[in-house]
Amino acid sequence: MHSGFAMDKHEFRSISASSATTELQLRRISQIIFAVTVALSFVAVQNLLASRWRTAALMLGTIGLLVIAYRIARAGRLQVAAGLMTAILTGMATLLIWLDQGLHDHALLGYCGILIFAGVLGGGRIFLLLLGFMLLNILVLGVLNLQGIYVNEVPPLRAGNIVDASVVIVAVGFASWLLAGDLRRALRNVEEENLRVRESQRQIEHLAGHDPLTGLANRLLARDRFEQALAQALRNQSRVALLFLDLDNFKTINDSLGHVAGDQLLCQVAERLQQVVRSGDTVCRQGGDEFLLTLGNVTDRAAAAMAAIKVLEQLHAPFFVNGQDVLVSCSLGVALGPEDGVDFDTLLKKADMAMYKAKDSGRNAWRCYDEEMNSSVNRYLQLAAGMRAALASEQFSLHFQPQFELVSGRLVGAEALIRWQHPELGMISPETFIPIAEKTGLIIDIGAWVLQEACAQAVRWHQQGFGALRVSVNLSPIQFRRGDIERVVVAALEDSGLPARALDLELTESLFIDDTVAFSGVLHRLRERGVGLSIDDFGTGYSNLGYLKRFEVATLKIDRSFVCRLIQDPQDEAIVRAIIQMAHSLKLAIVAEGIEDAATLERLIALGCDRGQGFFWAPALPAEEFNRLLQGREPSA
Ligand code: C2E
Ligand code: MG
Ligand code: MG
Repeated sequence: MHSGFAMDKHEFRSISASSATTELQLRRISQIIFAVTVALSFVAVQNLLASRWRTAALMLGTIGLLVIAYRIARAGRLQVAAGLMTAILTGMATLLIWLDQGLHDHALLGYCGILIFAGVLGGGRIFLLLLGFMLLNILVLGVLNLQGIYVNEVPPLRAGNIVDASVVIVAVGFASWLLAGDLRRALRNVEEENLRVRESQRQIEHLAGHDPLTGLANRLLARDRFEQALAQALRNQSRVALLFLDLDNFKTINDSLGHVAGDQLLCQVAERLQQVVRSGDTVCRQGGDEFLLTLGNVTDRAAAAMAAIKVLEQLHAPFFVNGQDVLVSCSLGVALGPEDGVDFDTLLKKADMAMYKAKDSGRNAWRCYDEEMNSSVNRYLQLAAGMRAALASEQFSLHFQPQFELVSGRLVGAEALIRWQHPELGMISPETFIPIAEKTGLIIDIGAWVLQEACAQAVRWHQQGFGALRVSVNLSPIQFRRGDIERVVVAALEDSGLPARALDLELTESLFIDDTVAFSGVLHRLRERGVGLSIDDFGTGYSNLGYLKRFEVATLKIDRSFVCRLIQDPQDEAIVRAIIQMAHSLKLAIVAEGIEDAATLERLIALGCDRGQGFFWAPALPAEEFNRLLQGREPSA
C-alpha cells in the first residue's frame, strides 16, 4: 500500500542524491577554507616575523572573516557561504594588490583560484560578478599606474616572495585538485549512468520485439521482418512464405503435465523451429501454442510446402519434458506473398485459414492457402450466424440409429444423432456444425434441446410397449465446462418422465482430462440417479486409462475407425481385441460402432463384443422410420 508519505524509488534516489551533493559541497567549502586559512596563517606569520604589520593584520582579518563563512556553511546556507568566502578572498587579494606591488603582486595568482572556487561552488552569478570586479580592478589599477596617478612600488625580490607565491599556488592547487576530482567522479558517474540507461533501453527494445518465454520474435517484430522480406522478394522477383503453426495437442499436455511443463515444451519447440529455418528467416511466437515462420527467398509454392514438411519432421521426434518423452504434432498453414497478398495481415489471415484446414484434415498436416478456403470460411461464418435462428425455427431434428445386442440380435437402444436441414445449404452433417456450435457456445442450448427431444422420443417408444429401449445422447465437453449439465439432464428426465436407467450419456475421452472435484461430483450424482455413462470414440483420444474406474463409466464405444478395418487389418483387430478384453475385466460393456457388414459382425461376436450399431442394420433414421423398424419387432418390457 502507498501511504501519503511514501515516496517512490525515483523520488527517494533523487532526494538522497541531492543530500549527498550538499554534504560534499559543505565538505569542499570547509576544506578550502581550511587550506586557505593554513596558507594565510603561514603568510601572516612570515609577515609578522618580517614586521610587515599591515599585511599580517590583513591576513588575520581575512582568517576571522573566513571563520564566519565557515559557520554560515555549517548552518546549511552553502550558496551564501560560498559567495562570502570568494568575496572575502577577492577583497583580501585586491587589497594586497593595491597596497603592495600592484599588477606585479603574486596575490594576482589568487584571482585565478578564487574564480575556480566561485565557478564550481558559487554558481554563475557570483562568478560573473567576481570576474567583472577583478577585471575592473586590473583596468583601474593598471591605468592609474600607467598615468602615474597611483603608483605601486615593486621592491626587489625577497626570499619571502618565493614562499608567498608557493603558498598561494599550493593552496589554490590543492583546492582546484579537490574540485577537479569531484568533476572527474561526476563525469564517471554520468558515463556509468549513461551505460545503464543504454543497457535498459536495449532491454526494453528487446522486450518490445520478443516473446519473454521463448525469446523468439513477437508478432510486432515478425510483421517488420515480413515487410522487409517481402520488399526484397518483390525486388528479386522471388516470394515470401508465411507459415502459421499450431500445436495439436498442447492443451492436453498443459492440462495433464502442468503449466511449467507446458512452458518447457514451448521453449523446446521454439529451439527446434529455429534450427529448421535459414539464418535470414524469422520464427515468431504469436501467442499460446501458435508460431509464425517468415521464410524469405522462396521460389514457389512447392518450395514453401517443402519447408512445411521439414517443420513437421523437425517436431516429429519426442520432446523430453518433466522427465518423460512427450509426442507433439502440429498443423501448419502456408500462405505465399505476393500471390496471396502483399500485406502481413492478409497473409496471416490466409495462413491461419490454411492451418485450420490442416487441423480439419486430421491434424499433423500442412495445407497451402487456396481461394476455395476463403469461401469455406465464409460458409463457416454463414453457419455460425444462422445457427441460433435454426434452433428457433426448428431446422434441427433428431435421427436415431438402432443399437443391437450382437449375440441375440435384439434391438436394445438407439443413439440420438442431430441433423440440420438448412433452408439454402440442405442437410448439414453434425461433424460440420457441432464444432462451430462449440466455438460459439450455442452447443449448450442445442445440447439441451437434443436431451429434451431424445428423452421425449424414448418415452413414446416405451408407451408403445418397448420399455427396455435405451436412448444414447452425445454430450459435448463444452456442456460440462460451461453449461449446467446436471440440471439440464435432470430437467429432461423429469419433463419427459423417462426413467434415468433408460438414458445413456456419451462422453468423449478428452472430457476426463478435467479431473476436477466439481466434474467428478456431477458424474457421480448422475450415475447415482441411474443414468448410464459411455465413452464415445474410445481409442482415439487421451490414453490415461485411470479415469475409467474413477468416473464409474459403464460402457465403451469402440471408435468406428478400428471397427471398419477389423477384417482387413490385423493391427486393428489386435486393438479391438485388447479393448474388449480390458473392458470386460473392468466389468464394462462394449459397443462397436460402424459395423457395415456381416463379416465384421461375426468377428466382433467372436471377440466377445456386447452390442453394436452400423449401416449393416441401419443408418441413423428419422423417428417415423425408426418406428417402422420397431413395428416388426416384439415389444419388450
Ligand atoms: P458419433 O457419436 O461417434 O456417432 C456415430 C457416427 O457414425 C454418426 O455420424 C453415424 O451416422 C455414423 N455411423 C453409424 N454407423 C456407421 C457405419 O456403419 N458406417 C459409417 N461410416 N458411419 C456410421 P453422424 O450422425 O454424422 O454424427 C457424427 C458425430 O457428430 C457423432 O459421432 C457425434 O460426435 C456428433 N454428434 C451427433 N449428434 C450430436 C449431438 O446431438 N450432440 C453432440 N454434442 N454431438 C453430436
Ligand atoms: Mg456417439
Ligand atoms: Mg462415436
